[in-house]
Amino acid sequence: MPEPSETIFSKIIKREIPAKIVYEDDRALAFHDINPQAPVHILVVPKQPIPMLSQAQDRDESLLGHLLLVAAKVAQDAGLEQNFRLVVNNGRGAGQTVFHLHLHILGGRSLAWPPG
Ligand code: 5GP
Repeated sequence: MPEPSETIFSKIIKREIPAKIVYEDDRALAFHDINPQAPVHILVVPKQPIPMLSQAQDRDESLLGHLLLVAAKVAQDAGLEQNFRLVVNNGRGAGQTVFHLHLHILGGRSLAWPPG
């Protein structure tokens, strides 16, 4: 029986389903999005399954900072230099479909503002 917090991303972290992983450390994993919305579209996820940003706690402060630093490094490694966008969809109304916190790194094309 899966944990209540089990999502497709937990399965990717546990290597139960494949993904194109580009970065891993003890707290985070980054892999290419299966349905890219830009030439580079990479997801950064904490290994600890926080469902969404609004459910993060004070104790997660260091982890959240770590995810941002990982995203910047992954964007560099992907060749995006200083031109990329980070997106966190929080809740169904904002487009969140996988309830395991993740940062979208988008780049490789010009990005319109405001986002849709
Ligand atoms: P959300 O809509 O929750 O912010 O983003 C979820 C993202 O996960 C989507 O961009 C979607 O394409 C991606 N995604 C969903 N299932 C999989 C999967 O099995 N593998 C990978 N690599 N990405 C996935």
